[in-house]
Amino acid sequence: MSLDIIKYPDERLKQVSAPVENFDVELQRFVAALEKIMRAGPGGVGIAASQVGCFQRIAIVDVSGMRKLPADSSNNGCMVLINPEITEWEGMVMGREGCMSVPDFTGNVIRAEKIAFTAFDVQGSQHEFNSEGYEARAVQHEVDHLDGMLFLDRLVSRRTDLFRRKVYK
Ligand SMILES: [Zn+2]
Repeated sequence: MSLDIIKYPDERLKQVSAPVENFDVELQRFVAALEKIMRAGPGGVGIAASQVGCFQRIAIVDVSGMRKLPADSSNNGCMVLINPEITEWEGMVMGREGCMSVPDFTGNVIRAEKIAFTAFDVQGSQHEFNSEGYEARAVQHEVDHLDGMLFLDRLVSRRTDLFRRKVYK
């Protein structure tokens, strides 16, 4: 399976994804391919299926390998998030975000500091999660992708909160 990352300003990034209904072998294969792309990408802590042109509610988040992650920050390891639903939001915090679909920029975005959410795994079992800090930010970022939103849409000001980068690290 060959999958390429769709880049801004491709209109497909605005498409709202549909819930997954079939938890079959095809889904397992797709999730495995999606994880591979996430890990191949620089700074790949999360990916949404819509970024490769599959408009189903599938995302993966794994911040556990991040170099700059604070030592005391907890995380859930690698989470496959199918039909994720954020159910609780707590606090607000500004933080820097990047995106494989927006390789030339980073931006400051306000997100909930802590969230609770549910998601199905590839077998179709539902799980409950709690996240905070960078992981919570990554989950909110990926769920946005499933709703056709980019971090660019959440900037308070493009003039002060958007930063060009030369190299994607
Ligand atoms: Zn993204």
